[in-house]
Amino acid sequence: MRTPFIAGNWKMNKTAAEAVTFLNEIKDALDKIEGVDIAVCPPSIAIPAVAEVLSGSKVGVGAQNICGAESGAFTGEIAANMITPFCQYVIIGHSERRAYFGVLDSWVNQKAKVALAHGLTPIICVGESLEQNEAGETVSFVSGQVKAAFDGFTAEQAASCVIAYEPIWAIGTGKSASVEQAGGIIHDSIRVPLAEMFGEETAQAIRIQYGGSVKEGNIAAYMSHPDIDGALVGGAALKAGFVELVANAV
Ligand code: PEP
Repeated sequence: MRTPFIAGNWKMNKTAAEAVTFLNEIKDALDKIEGVDIAVCPPSIAIPAVAEVLSGSKVGVGAQNICGAESGAFTGEIAANMITPFCQYVIIGHSERRAYFGVLDSWVNQKAKVALAHGLTPIICVGESLEQNEAGETVSFVSGQVKAAFDGFTAEQAASCVIAYEPIWAIGTGKSASVEQAGGIIHDSIRVPLAEMFGEETAQAIRIQYGGSVKEGNIAAYMSHPDIDGALVGGAALKAGFVELVANAV
């Protein structure tokens, strides 16, 4: 039985002060919602303040990226051991990191391994572009991303990860994938290759989120699909309506 998991990806939004004000407004209401794991992923500079305001809350904290190296000459990067005092999760390979910061499949694999070695739960993002979708390349592309991300993992390591299926054409566009479309792609492009790599039991244990213009009004429909275990939420995680979105997921 996979516990639903809703994570908010704040991207480059909210200062530390704004984050604290916002979380003070919503955390008590989020804490009352049972049967769902919840996390927020603020910009890295706000992580310590967010962890402090959420101490004692059920709402977890995630980073939006870590470096695949432990330390050293990687200007602008953040190491896993710098976030472990504050975070339980880390988003790995978000399509914006892949597109604007050159993150390669091999780095996603390395970052996820480092995250696991530090006891963090990676939220590994995969998803196709509009061109790939329209060319009928979704299954081969997304399953390729999954195989690369999990290359060399043990079944136990794989089971400790969360995957977010986020079609690039649905992120921040207001154009969400239909439930059947998202669920079908998650099944064919993610659960099937995971079963081939790690066995059916492990594939069934891994939580897979949908991401792409998820809102209060459409989360329940996504959650009704047996292969969708939650959502990675961008824009709708920045407003108080996030509480209703999470409540509607269970
Ligand atoms: C995201 O950035 O992961 C995302 C899904 O964004 P949005 O919900 O705004 O489409």
